[in-house]
This record gives sequence, structure tokens and C-alpha cells, in this order.
Amino acid sequence: MTERVHITTAIFYCNGAPHVGSAYEALAADTFARVLRRKLGHNQVTFLSGTDEHGDKIRRAAVAQGLAPKVYTDRMSEIFRQAFAGLNVTAAARETPAVDFWVRTTDEVHEKFVQQMLLRTYQRGDIYFRDYEGLYCVDCERFYTEKELLPGNLCPSHNKAVELISEGNYFLKIEKYRGQVLAHLKSNPDFIRPERYRNEALNMLAEPLSDLCISRPKARLDWGIELPFDTNYVTYVWYDAFWAYVSEPATRMGLETFAREIWPYTEHFIGKDILKTHAVYWPPILLAAGLPLFRHLNVHGWLNFGGARMSKSSGNVADPVSYERTFGSDVLRYFVMREIVYGLDGDFSEERLIERYNADLANDLGNLISRVLSMAARYCDGQVKTAPQRVLDGAYEGVNWSAIERLPTPVIDRVAEDLDFKRALDDVWAALDAGNKYIATSAPFNLAKDPARLDEVAQIIANLLEALRVIADALQPFMPVTARKIFELLNIDQSRAHAPYGDGLKPGHKVRPPVALFPRIEKTSKP
Ligand SMILES: [Zn+2]
Repeated sequence: MTERVHITTAIFYCNGAPHVGSAYEALAADTFARVLRRKLGHNQVTFLSGTDEHGDKIRRAAVAQGLAPKVYTDRMSEIFRQAFAGLNVTAAARETPAVDFWVRTTDEVHEKFVQQMLLRTYQRGDIYFRDYEGLYCVDCERFYTEKELLPGNLCPSHNKAVELISEGNYFLKIEKYRGQVLAHLKSNPDFIRPERYRNEALNMLAEPLSDLCISRPKARLDWGIELPFDTNYVTYVWYDAFWAYVSEPATRMGLETFAREIWPYTEHFIGKDILKTHAVYWPPILLAAGLPLFRHLNVHGWLNFGGARMSKSSGNVADPVSYERTFGSDVLRYFVMREIVYGLDGDFSEERLIERYNADLANDLGNLISRVLSMAARYCDGQVKTAPQRVLDGAYEGVNWSAIERLPTPVIDRVAEDLDFKRALDDVWAALDAGNKYIATSAPFNLAKDPARLDEVAQIIANLLEALRVIADALQPFMPVTARKIFELLNIDQSRAHAPYGDGLKPGHKVRPPVALFPRIEKTSKP
């Protein structure tokens, strides 16, 4: 069977607009999806994102705006979807509906599926009812044990007093599955990656767990999915939201097929703030429903902005839509993937973004494209006059041509195997460096003054045009719009775009005159 992969972002809780931090996660997942589609075939990769729309925080955000919760989430979900679609996240753009999913937890398909999973788990005996008295944080929508709270019974996330609540509720047996989850982590060392997060998860699973309360009495909160076995309750928003990873594709292709052929190859992309829910709660929820575990939990760090974590609650946010409108979608995509090491915290600043824009995009990339295409127009009538050749490393001083020739393989491998987006882009920039140095040292503009050396000039230009083609191919998962523009300038269709170096441009092929893809930004323009 051909390998298939299912990629998900977190399901975004839409009680406020998306920020660059949430966009970063969608962009990492999208780049990964594009790389795997390049490697395995487009339709072998399903890619899913969406919005988490139930729970008390959403209900209260809606009330604050004088709206019914569903009217509010219709609006907010679309704001998220359009922000990510504007950045060419294919799941949000629903670019290929058969494999790109934008799931809303208020969709009927999703709600029915969650009820099906609740019933299935209940019938298997892993959900039980008991009276419960506990310390509850309204903002977290969860109960805390005393030892989890800050002194004075304050919520550790919100630093505000929790309330003592007594009520009957339904619980999921998660302690029952702790040993199995722990064994899975131990026998699959990269189940949670990078390793630092695996170690955190192992610690979280080292002590016995309290069973998870998965219901809320409607008397207290009715904005949720009704329990199929007790109409006085809705299900806990987290239990509901996890199933967004599964509900639509499983409904479309049938649960058994999905569980066998797709689900075990799932790659979750999440932020480190929701490591615990995904490492401790989600695996037992799956096992209790009789489903297998996913393949990887890929955990990223936080994006800092002006020195502090970017988050909705702190109000310390950069708006991805304004960056997309000011610089174009590819610039934000490029910046976050080049600047941040996946798994570690990173800094976002507009000054740095403009620095990278000018140095990397305007100079290294933009100049190479325009110089090669203008020389092709001037010296070769815009034609590939001869078959592109390999250039031996060292034949021109400082030119490491193999950085070009081996593309896109190292880029695909670094992303597909190691989530090393940054080094993948370093590899592309090593190729750009080789191209720029080759122009400087072979100096076709000087050779062209001697009519006897025009063949040599034609060879150099052919090599450089072919180099642009493989560079565009390697850049495509990161910068899809830019890659498309380069292919258009090279006048090449998708059938030739992905060939190895030397098999793309043929003698007689016509290319187009240059256009400036990344004009320099002279001073800070506030988006
Ligand atoms: Zn709280």
C-alpha cells in the first residue's frame, strides 16, 4: 500500500482573532503537507485544520457582543479561515476538497460523530457517572486538584480564585490506559518530538491520573454537544474538539477504513501549551473508543513578540493578515520558517522581517532571478541555447555547484524526516549563494564582449536558468506563490518543473524577460 499521511493543526479556539503565533502553526503544518505531497503524491496527504467553537468562553465572548453563540462562531471561524487561506494554507483554502479539510466543531457532521464516539465509549464501559465536588476554574472550564492550584486556591493559568462546585458528572477512565500510553511512548521514542517534550510527557504520565470529567450539566452550560445517553448534559469542550481531527474524513470514507488506512499515519502539529491535553488525555480518549494512536505529536514553542509570549489573553499579538497584505503571503511564510527552529521559542519582529526581506529575498533571491533572466534576454535572445551542464565544485572559485544540483532532495528530507524547516531553507540559500558566486566568477557579462566566447556565455546562462528551476522547485513548499512566478518566468509547466537538475530545460526553450519579485523596502513601513 502506498504511504498515506494525515496532517493536522490544532483546532483553533476562536474566541478572538488569529495572531502570527497561530499562523505559524498553520504555516509549519502547511509546509510539511506540501513537502509530503511532493514526496508521496498530492492525494496521499490529507491536511486538516479548523475551529473549536463550543464551551463557556465562546458563549461568553458571544454574549459580550450581543450575539447568539452560533452567529458569533460563524463569523469567527470565517475570520480564521480567511486569514490562513490568505497565507495559502491549503486546508483553510480547501484547495483540493478531497484532501483539504476545514472542520468546525459546530458542523452537524462533527457533532454526530462526537455523539457516536461518546456512545461507543459508554457502551465499552469506559464512561461512568458519579457525584463530584471539586475546585473549578470558569476560564479554564476544568476542575483542579488542590495541589495543582497556586497558594490561596488560585488557578495556575489565570491566577484567580477557583469555585467549589458540587455536581454529578460523567467521567472517562483515563487512568485505566495510562500504562498502555506510557509503554507506547517508551517503545516509540519519536512519538512526541522534539525529545524535550517527550520527556515532559513521560513525567506527566509517571503519576496516577484522575479520570477525566467529560460532561457539563446543561443547567450550567448548554453551548455544547448533547450526551447521547443523557440529555441533561453536554460534553466537555476538549473531548469534543479532539474529535475534529477525525470526524469529517472518517465520516466521508467510513470509520473503519479511516482508522486502518489513515489515522495511524497522523501527524499532529501543536503548541507546547497544549502538550498535556494531547499527551495525557487524547491517547486514552482514542483507546477508550477502540481506535489506534496517531503517529507523531509535533510540538512547537511559543512566538515572542516584543519580548513576551504572543497570546490572545495578553493582547500582545501581531496580526498575520496585515503582514500578508503589506508584504505578500510568501514573506511571512518565509520569515517564520527561516527564523524559528521548530520546537524552540522564537522571536517575531517587524524590523527583523524587513532585514530578512531585503537581505534574503530582495538581494539573494530576487537579484539572482533578475540578473539571470536579463542576461538570457541580452545574450541569448531569451533562449536556452544549449543543454544545461553540471559545474564541478571548485571549477570556479568558491562556487559549490552541488548545492544546486542536489536540490530538492535535502529540503524534502530535512522537512519530512526532521521538521528542520530552517536548515531546509539554509540549503536553498546555499544554492542561491552558489548561483550568485557563479555569475560573479564566470563573469558572462565580460565574456560576452568577445564574440569567440559566446558559446561559453550560452552555456553559463543555460546552467543558471536550470539552477533557477530547481531552486523554485525546492522553494515551492515554503513560498508557493514565488515558486509559481519563477516557473512562469521560466515558461515551464508543472510536468517539467520537478525534474532533477539537467532534465528540465531543453535547448530551444524560450524564457520570459525579468520582473522584480521583491523590490527593496527602504524604510520601515507600518502595516
Ligand atoms: Zn483558569
